[in-house]
Amino acid sequence: MSEKSCDALDELRHAIDEVDGQLIELLAKRLSLVAEVGEVKSEAGVPIYAPEREAAMLAKRRSEADEAGVGGDLIEDVLRRLMRESYHREKDTGFKCIKPDLGDVVIVGGRGKLGGVFKRMLELSGYNVKVLDKDDWSSAPELFANAGLVIVSVPINLTTEIIDQLSGLPSDCVLVDLTSTKGKPLEHMLNVHAGPVLGLHPMFGPDVASLAKQVIIYCDGRSPEKYAWLLEQIGIWGAKLTLADPQEHDNAMTLVQGMRHFTTFVYGQHLAAENPNMEQLLDYSSPIYRLELAMVGRLFAQDSQLYADIIFSSNENTKMFSRYLSRFEHANTMLVNGDREGFIQAFKEVSQWFGDYSQQFLDESKQLLMQAHDSRAV
Ligand code: NAD
Repeated sequence: MSEKSCDALDELRHAIDEVDGQLIELLAKRLSLVAEVGEVKSEAGVPIYAPEREAAMLAKRRSEADEAGVGGDLIEDVLRRLMRESYHREKDTGFKCIKPDLGDVVIVGGRGKLGGVFKRMLELSGYNVKVLDKDDWSSAPELFANAGLVIVSVPINLTTEIIDQLSGLPSDCVLVDLTSTKGKPLEHMLNVHAGPVLGLHPMFGPDVASLAKQVIIYCDGRSPEKYAWLLEQIGIWGAKLTLADPQEHDNAMTLVQGMRHFTTFVYGQHLAAENPNMEQLLDYSSPIYRLELAMVGRLFAQDSQLYADIIFSSNENTKMFSRYLSRFEHANTMLVNGDREGFIQAFKEVSQWFGDYSQQFLDESKQLLMQAHDSRAV
């Protein structure tokens, strides 16, 4: 490079450094304004995640950015990342307490992972939270004496037998469980407790930094008017609440969780048996393959008991896996027989079944892959 070009490049790089400095100052200013909004929201009890406001704001910024020649996608990416940061920070300011006269919250299994998340969120909202874990049953009468809310968050395989021990709760106390299955726990809660009963299934793990945008499925048990405050409280944390019938929930979970975890487990088992060189696999993987590998590998960094419980939790899972296996065998037969036409025909049929969703999923995954491409991990 000539000396002249070197100088020009230095000058431009210096100008970029200055703009980056201004960007950092602007980001700091934006984050501090959002923190102020967080404090106002916390006092007023406004949910930290407001989907309509977020969508309207993004649409407006996209069109402004398009006009300025910056590109809507770029500004949306930047703002989404900033908003995620803000959601994580907003929880540090705490949340409005919707039911200050509740009495105690007792979390059975509160020293565990998910119980710990609810303990933190409830304490951030000003409730008095007590824990009853496996060695604390001798103190149960005192712990429950002033309980306005009891949350059961114990291993799935122990859930119903532990619920059956909760016969002495105060009559107005709200009894809630967080189990990944809903039918059986609700049945047992309704049997053991004559007061309000609610089933929750948080569709996230304990590693979430904020509940903003996380889905929590809820199943009404008894006296919904007595736990409406709790749903409102969860809404303030930013979670999206979805009402479900317990049986429909359990059937859907066979596909959403059981099937996915089971096939991931088998794929992981297959990888372990084939024993490839992981470093080499990663070197050969562009973001999409790396993400796919990560989705398999992350399962095995988690609790084997929990996944065993989810997979073994229902007979429907066993039946579903058998049907999957026969389809796998059928596809394998096409392959073994060299039936390329059969494969293409089957592919088209599935594509037709997905309909507009396949395009939607292509667009959504493109966004995710772009983020994965930018991330430090890939
Ligand atoms: P965990 O193993 O981390 O916690 C369970 C807790 O229950 C532990 O502290 C354990 O000591 C306690 N416990 C065990 N026996 C007990 C007893 N007899 N009396 C009182 N406490 C007892 O499990 P987790 O992952 O937090 O799961 C708890 C519940 O949350 C399960 O029902 C699970 O289906 C549900 N859930 C978990 C996740 C997740 O990703 N972890 C997601 C959604 C729902």
